[in-house]
Amino acid sequence: MTGRFWRFYEKANDVVRTFTGPADIGAGHPEGPDIRPADPACPMCGRPMSEHRIERTADSRTSTRFYCPER
Ligand SMILES: [Zn+2]
Repeated sequence: MTGRFWRFYEKANDVVRTFTGPADIGAGHPEGPDIRPADPACPMCGRPMSEHRIERTADSRTSTRFYCPER
């Protein structure tokens, strides 16, 4: 799995992390207050993050899914 799709996937994961915070295992270093914009725009579609749907599963092996709103 290489190329454009993978880049998209990585980007989507960055977005998810921005929105949901780091994984439960922590970042491996002291973390300061996590200050974020109240409603950042999605770098992929430009819509507010609050319009997006994020699915997190209890199964830590299943990646978080992130959905842009339909236009
Ligand atoms: Zn989006």
